[in-house]
Amino acid sequence: MTTTPTVPELPDTKGLQRLDAAHYLHPFTDHAALAEKGARVMVRGDGIWLWDSDGHKVLDAMSGLWCVNVGYGRRSITEAVARQMDTLPFYNSFFNTTTIPAVQLAAKLAKIAPAGFNHVFFTGSGSEANDTNVRMVRRFWDLAGQPERTVIISRHNAYHGSTMAGASLGGMTGMHVQGGLPIPGIVHIGQPSYADHGTGMTFEEFGVYAASWLEERIKELGPDKVAAFIGEPIQGAGGVIIPPPTYWPEIRRICDKYDVLLIADEVITGFGRLGKWFAADVYGMRPDLITFAKGVTSGYVPLGGVLVGDRVADALVRGGDFNHGFTYSGHPVACAAALENIRILEEERLLDQVAHDTGPYLKQRFASLAAHPLVGSAESFGFVAGLSLVRRKAAHVHHQLRFDPGLGVGMLCRAHMFEQGVIMRAVGDRMIIAPPLIMTREQIDEMIQKIRYCLDLTLTDLTARRWLD
Ligand SMILES: *Cc1c(COP(=O)(O)O)cnc(C)c1O
Repeated sequence: MTTTPTVPELPDTKGLQRLDAAHYLHPFTDHAALAEKGARVMVRGDGIWLWDSDGHKVLDAMSGLWCVNVGYGRRSITEAVARQMDTLPFYNSFFNTTTIPAVQLAAKLAKIAPAGFNHVFFTGSGSEANDTNVRMVRRFWDLAGQPERTVIISRHNAYHGSTMAGASLGGMTGMHVQGGLPIPGIVHIGQPSYADHGTGMTFEEFGVYAASWLEERIKELGPDKVAAFIGEPIQGAGGVIIPPPTYWPEIRRICDKYDVLLIADEVITGFGRLGKWFAADVYGMRPDLITFAKGVTSGYVPLGGVLVGDRVADALVRGGDFNHGFTYSGHPVACAAALENIRILEEERLLDQVAHDTGPYLKQRFASLAAHPLVGSAESFGFVAGLSLVRRKAAHVHHQLRFDPGLGVGMLCRAHMFEQGVIMRAVGDRMIIAPPLIMTREQIDEMIQKIRYCLDLTLTDLTARRWLD
């Protein structure tokens, strides 16, 4: 790992780790394991770089948690937030009041959203936004005189957040077994993962086939019972599963046929990650509702929400009270951060850069990793990418030999990345990245070189353990 002299005084790492283990219950964490190793303490960020409390410099290929789209250390966001805090740190939007940043952000979002989206409901997070979706679509069907339409269809291995409704919409079995989920009225179909389900089909054929699972389920449940279908345009936490281009248009056709609302969860794909403001514009999804969070503020301050398409918004506006909302809905400081974040994305033309320059470059460089003996396939779209570690390679993904999931090969690889100062995430045996949108071609080269080196270290490890035999 490289060290840097720019951190003036290093904090007491051991002391912090002791306090951390004693008092801090982390999200999605095995605490016994954490206490043993001690948490890594991050202290500073600048651009695509982080520094930990031991002075190690780390390349953050995950944008924090898929969110720091404009990179760390943006003084203008800090200033926008400070100005708003000085002027009015908080006021709510209940009881016929509003605030200037909330109004301005709502109007700005209506401008950059896909056609037919003119309203927004603000929340504090992506999970709350998806909870909002559940209530909103059911309210919509109530108002439409079809109160029986309550069921929401989602997909296995989806991630839609960690509240009761968010985790229920999600398709993570590890989450469902804790807390008696999913809650009633939420069901799941298969995910459009070609590697898992596409044997004997072309990629394009598989897209139509995977979409047909939705029609099958709608028929099974009875179309008059189904309120909505929800999906991430590209599944993020599930391992960066990029669907065939045929998938979303076919899903839209089926939703139209049965008058089922379509919710695009764009918490990861929104705000430039795929080279457009929203993936709905990339995939021809024409959703009715769009969930956002993360990149809307580049994570500087928590904010989420739902972009509400005209059909649903008109019904809600005409329908009287919608008894739903959060203390921090439209928080003025968060909205100020979002406005400045969006201004940066526009001023620096980061969407165009990802769409036409660094995105295609990343695609080509990331795809070159597929030549590595451990890598079965390596795909990307805009600034998300994922590769599969395999035990034996083959030209076709369906002929490759995978590792026993119990071996934790992905975590082994991730540990090397961590040691070598690059943050890449492991989802099973898929290694995934979602870099800050500011990443340059030179930095992409540096990242790919680090990843390749870590793959070599992993290969050496696996050979020594005889796990490749
Ligand atoms: C992160 C994420 C969420 C949840 O957002 P939180 O702000 O963590 O509640 C929902 N959907 C997707 C697709 C996400 O990636």
